[in-house]
Amino acid sequence: MARNKHKPQRMCVACRQSQDKKSLVRLVRTPEGVVVDQTGKLAGRGAYLHADPDCWERGVKKYLEKALNTSLSETNRAELIAFQDSFSNKNKE
Ligand SMILES: [Zn+2]
Repeated sequence: MARNKHKPQRMCVACRQSQDKKSLVRLVRTPEGVVVDQTGKLAGRGAYLHADPDCWERGVKKYLEKALNTSLSETNRAELIAFQDSFSNKNKE
């Protein structure tokens, strides 16, 4: 029997794998649309995606809307997809 660990774990809505929440990016549904919660403090219904281009794109194109029970406008979707560029920039020192 597996025992629960105490580290906070969150599930990526694209690949459905749970992970330490630091490896995941939180997205929050707001009245203006879905935004990336870079501070982790935004209120609202949230979902998590891996900061990985594969999970991110699949998530934004398909799973995110289901997870947040909303529909993305084309602009909103394009903004979110464009956001993945910042992952690769962040990893470069
Ligand atoms: Zn994932």
